Amino acid sequence: MNYTSTRGNHPLLNSAQVINLGLAPGGGLFVPESYPYCAPERYIGELSYQQIARSVLELLLTDYSPAELQQCIAAAYNLSTFDTPAVVEMVTLGNGRSVLELWHGPTAAFKDVALQIMPHLLANAKKKTGNTQHTVILVATSGDTGKAALEGFCDAPGISIIVFYPHGGVSEMQRLQMVTTGGSNTDVVAVRGNFDDCQTGVKKLFADEELRWKLMGRSIELSSANSINWGRLCPQIVYYFAAYADLVRQGTIASGDRIDFAVPTGNFGNILAAYYAKRMGLPVGKLICASNKNRVLADFFETGTYNREREFHRTNAPSMDILISSNLERFLFEMCGRDHEKITGWYRDLAETGTFTVDDATRAAIRTEITGGWVDEDEVLATIKKVYTEKGYVLDTHTSVAVALVESLGPGTATTVIASTASPYKFSVDVLGALEDTVSKDEFVCVDRIAEISGKPVHRALSDLGARPVRHNAVIDIDAMKEHVIQYIEKNVFSITK
Ligand SMILES: *Cc1c(COP(=O)(O)O)cnc(C)c1O
Repeated sequence: MNYTSTRGNHPLLNSAQVINLGLAPGGGLFVPESYPYCAPERYIGELSYQQIARSVLELLLTDYSPAELQQCIAAAYNLSTFDTPAVVEMVTLGNGRSVLELWHGPTAAFKDVALQIMPHLLANAKKKTGNTQHTVILVATSGDTGKAALEGFCDAPGISIIVFYPHGGVSEMQRLQMVTTGGSNTDVVAVRGNFDDCQTGVKKLFADEELRWKLMGRSIELSSANSINWGRLCPQIVYYFAAYADLVRQGTIASGDRIDFAVPTGNFGNILAAYYAKRMGLPVGKLICASNKNRVLADFFETGTYNREREFHRTNAPSMDILISSNLERFLFEMCGRDHEKITGWYRDLAETGTFTVDDATRAAIRTEITGGWVDEDEVLATIKKVYTEKGYVLDTHTSVAVALVESLGPGTATTVIASTASPYKFSVDVLGALEDTVSKDEFVCVDRIAEISGKPVHRALSDLGARPVRHNAVIDIDAMKEHVIQYIEKNVFSITK
């Protein structure tokens, strides 16, 4: 399987090479040249998550040997990383709805599923391509990617990781998770700006020729752990297959029945993985793309115009507070008939004017695949309360965005699986505030109270967080990111590579 750049600006590469490279220099994201078919017997039956992962990944990462894939999967998905042997759990809500809990990993958000395996995929990719450089991973995070990447890459040999998060733009729980990270190869920095500023800053660093040359002379390369990297995206395809297999095993659906997926969306990575599962043969009907008040995607699906020139809102689902949805580019590439020139033009428009408009044919193609919508903060809280009252199940704020949207669309014809992207404990103040009149703004007090109400144990990622020492204090301006990276590398990495 070879990979091509959405902007047609790079020769074909194999999967190890694209995982190594991240994004195409000069812009453009790597996508498979075609979509391999994953036959039902590869995922349906008495197969473990690890076996389904093997089935799906070996079709996409064809240059990895069976032994290499096996090693990556075993290291990523086990009982020291995930708190359930199933890796992901399915909870039935009734009325044809099920919740796919993707947050049983070490940081209590769905990003662990990808970021536990990606460092192993990358380490193998380096070996396979003969890359002996030291890799510095740069991450922009709206809260959850940062900690998941730090956990995944902590003390990985030959790799350092620097995480940038918006100062004041993440929950206290997310902040504490990141700034208490150990490891000798980790750095965490608050940026005075929002998530898009962090992401744009990181993209600029990747595009910075001077920096690239300077580092190359020291055998250091920059790489990414954001979902623009294929090594981050492809492991997410697996759980859509696993979810389907689970519903068949439960008897909720018969093999071959179509199901819908509803996904709380920010960067469009998670829902894109569902689309890829569909392209690989999974019987998927609708893909429901749920946005919060930062409704740039919902508006795009309605109007055909993507316009990031708008007010940015900090909401109670902060990991979805995003106005530049990077992975949409991969989806549009498919929707416009894989036309490099159209993609290049639209993304040039976006860079120059903050907006682009797709043609009618592309819009029509999108409409057949995606149902978009958005939900305001009050609906998010009301839905948490409603689902708890009716089902005794506590949703987190992000998952609630998707559940609320599904409710507002009315009863569907197919079973709807809602991707649950975070544990309710991770956003405890807002979640508890939805459940009862609470006076406390202390996340840990709220965690304890949610445990009492729900009867579910506190997620192990969060239980002793308040007691861990803070190790990362830096707060910088947006335009100081480059200098920070250089200083960090000079202090910590040059000495390693000397
Ligand atoms: C990252 C994140 C999202 C958004 O996922 P995308 O892949 O960026 O669309 C939703 N919910 C939570 C809890 C997240 O951490």
